[in-house]
Amino acid sequence: MSAVSNSRPTAPQSTTGERARPPSVDSLAQSLAGTGLPHGLLVDAAREAIAAGDPGSAAERAAAMERSLLRPVINATGVLLHTNLGRAPLGTAAAGGTGGPATPLRYSNLEFDTQRGVRGDRHAHAGGLLAKLCGAEAALVVNNCAAAVTLALGALAAGRGVAVSRGELVEIGGGFRVPEIVAQSGARLVEVGTTNRTRRQDYAVATEAGDVALCLRVHQSNYRIVGFTEAPAVGELADLGVPLVVDIGSGLVDEACQWLAGGPPAWLRGEPAARQTLAAGADLVTFSGDKLLGGPQAGIIAGSAELVQRCARHPLARAFRAGGLVLGTLQSLALTYLHRCGDDIPFWHMATRPVGELRARAEALGVGEVCDMAATTGGGTLPGVEIPSAGISLEGDMAAALRDGDVPVVARVAGQRTYLDLRTVDPADDAILATVARSACGT
Ligand SMILES: *Cc1c(COP(=O)(O)O)cnc(C)c1O
Repeated sequence: MSAVSNSRPTAPQSTTGERARPPSVDSLAQSLAGTGLPHGLLVDAAREAIAAGDPGSAAERAAAMERSLLRPVINATGVLLHTNLGRAPLGTAAAGGTGGPATPLRYSNLEFDTQRGVRGDRHAHAGGLLAKLCGAEAALVVNNCAAAVTLALGALAAGRGVAVSRGELVEIGGGFRVPEIVAQSGARLVEVGTTNRTRRQDYAVATEAGDVALCLRVHQSNYRIVGFTEAPAVGELADLGVPLVVDIGSGLVDEACQWLAGGPPAWLRGEPAARQTLAAGADLVTFSGDKLLGGPQAGIIAGSAELVQRCARHPLARAFRAGGLVLGTLQSLALTYLHRCGDDIPFWHMATRPVGELRARAEALGVGEVCDMAATTGGGTLPGVEIPSAGISLEGDMAAALRDGDVPVVARVAGQRTYLDLRTVDPADDAILATVARSACGT
């Protein structure tokens, strides 16, 4: 705020000493043309300023309007998939630029078969590549994982029962609650087992007893049940005579991480992956595009071609379908995975930087105190798992001053110190981060 109010231009003043008449809305708006905002928005700012009896505040109001628009921020929280900051980072790929808005910025063959000159299928491009990536027969892309689960249940189980363990009736955050999603899809929730222990037999009893259309497993993405616990392996539920749908949520496509030169990082251990879950016997998996997949907001349904087709034909598929920008971005992301160039995927690039490299960057910033830190994946994945990291800390609570930078810097505050973790910061932003940090400290 302070940077803006300093540059506040003075309102047109009378030079004769009498009280100036307020400027017209239009001339005040014209005087702000340099901001680059469309005239209609400047008129709003001018009108509000005049109505408040403070025409001189118009520039500040216009600047506030501009600040409230979607714009880049520097994520120095060390939370790789920060839900408030758009989850997976996009558009800052290290080499190939694969994470940015991809091909279909003009016209595209989104739903056109250029070979035969007939209507094509929007699920053929990214969907086909994502299927290959997870070893599935087919895949379908919708708006997010919540939509993917709702669609799968609506298409495969409306009016019938869905067996879910009482230990997996979870809330993921942002309003995704399994019992409500089941109800919304038109299916009936059939609870099996207990909070801490559920066995194959519990599912078997449910599927034999009633009209159960499918079994749904839900990954405990953002919490863990520890102690006296039991849950069947996916493979144990593969032969119950009904489809098995596993909502893995996080979007890790393959435990082997062939796209990473160094193989799977230690902190990933135990996270379920699409390929292995399908290989173990799941008929469908659902996952997010913007968690460990590292892509745009999307939801993917992958698995048996017959079941994916049933989902695709359901009316909700039309309501939930992804647009060309998302499908294009996912297509180039899938190609990057298939090229095994994980380093070109911003999420994986950031997640796998050696801590020594981060420490060297922290030292080069020349501000604050260099310190070791613990980053997290966040976004409702891998609770409690820490990734060794490094950054700088500043004396006192600097959060507000850092957010006020030309590019807002989002940091963490603990015990009267402010921590800036470099794991989630693009090295190209280091210079501006240092400038913002220095000015926040008044040095
Ligand atoms: C994150 C998550 C969801 C919700 O995904 P969105 O893409 O945010 O809709 C659903 N299920 C699980 C298991 C998740 O981890």
